[in-house]
Amino acid sequence: MYIVCSDLEGIYTPEIWISVSKHTGIDELKLTTRDVNDYNTLMRGRLSLLKQHNLRLKDIQKVIYQLEPLEGAREFLDWIRSVMQLIIVSDTFIEFADPLMEKLGRPTLLCHHLTTDEAGNITGYNLRQQDAKRKVVEALQNLNYKVIAIGDSYNDISMLRHAEKAILFRPPQNVIDENPDIEYVTSYEELKRIIRETAGI
Ligand SMILES: [Mg+2]
Repeated sequence: MYIVCSDLEGIYTPEIWISVSKHTGIDELKLTTRDVNDYNTLMRGRLSLLKQHNLRLKDIQKVIYQLEPLEGAREFLDWIRSVMQLIIVSDTFIEFADPLMEKLGRPTLLCHHLTTDEAGNITGYNLRQQDAKRKVVEALQNLNYKVIAIGDSYNDISMLRHAEKAILFRPPQNVIDENPDIEYVTSYEELKRIIRETAGI
């Protein structure tokens, strides 16, 4: 039986940090997992920028509340969930993702969480586990599922490489160039077609 494991940002929602960068005017915050392949380096840089600019969790949440899912994302998710099971596996944090999950109809989400101090400053981040995306795929395979994985960035590659079917959705050119053997698509209609063909539905 097939199950879909999908990334969140870039697939159903805008990149949260790029939006925060635009709203705060802090240019360096626009780097994402699409540009930097070491997640811990990326996160340490983000937290030090937030500290330097005195931005607290609630300042970031204010930006996120204004974000809308990508056009067609909600309909696509509703379609998948009407035909099979789906888990969103993300390297974002529950404190950031929640308003967007509400707008997406609350699909199942596995992600990380933040640490804040009493003043609401973000002082750290807690990965659910190392290589969390790949481990979700392996856990589901142990439960006898076959996984269709959807992602767009460097941090999705190990999940994609372990899945029975891997699809890149609107990836940046560098990710396409470095993974020429992984199929990529640019529309929800193409994703639907591949999911249907793979799962035989
Ligand atoms: Mg992404």
